[in-house]
Amino acid sequence: MAALGAITGPDLWLPILGGALLPDIPIFIFYAWTKGVEKIPDRTIWQEAYYRPFWQAAVAVGHSIPLAGAIAITGQIIGEPVLIWLGISAILHSLEDLPVHNHDAHRHFFPISNYRFISPFSYWDPRHYGRWVSLAEWGLVLIASAVLWSNMSSWAGRLVLILINSSYGFAIFYSRNLWRNCTESNCSQPQSSESNSSVEVGKSKASSKV
Ligand SMILES: [Zn+2]
Repeated sequence: MAALGAITGPDLWLPILGGALLPDIPIFIFYAWTKGVEKIPDRTIWQEAYYRPFWQAAVAVGHSIPLAGAIAITGQIIGEPVLIWLGISAILHSLEDLPVHNHDAHRHFFPISNYRFISPFSYWDPRHYGRWVSLAEWGLVLIASAVLWSNMSSWAGRLVLILINSSYGFAIFYSRNLWRNCTESNCSQPQSSESNSSVEVGKSKASSKV
């Protein structure tokens, strides 16, 4: 957001923010549904329900670089900057997700390919440096927010920055609490033995669980 905002100026911060959030919207809906409607415990939500084929497909659509690129190209063709920056911002979100997802990696090239890049680092999993990665990520968000804050004249925008930083802090607290004492035996993922393979890991995980 900070980088794109510096390029476009303040007028397009809304589509840039929208593009930054767009890839994770299926995950927000997934959590609201499984927690609020199905009333599944949190660990089961992230270890099992998350790998159901329907939700994996929804997450893949949200995190698809080709689809976000198509939005940006459509914007370029019809001369609509909102679509251009929405698409570019969504692509940046996916590029930032790539190095911080291990066994829960997304299919960023869906529907062209089901390839998943299995990073040795995770933004949450303590078995893959999650405690440090989450802090580093939050630190970067704080720095970017400080830059944006000084260039931002609208209080609505500043409120959004406060909300983003607060939600990062809450997410770190939530995941540390949820995955404390996490070991291979008590929080292994479905078919975690495949996690070194970088191709179609989650797809096979998903189909085996449901
Ligand atoms: Zn994401």
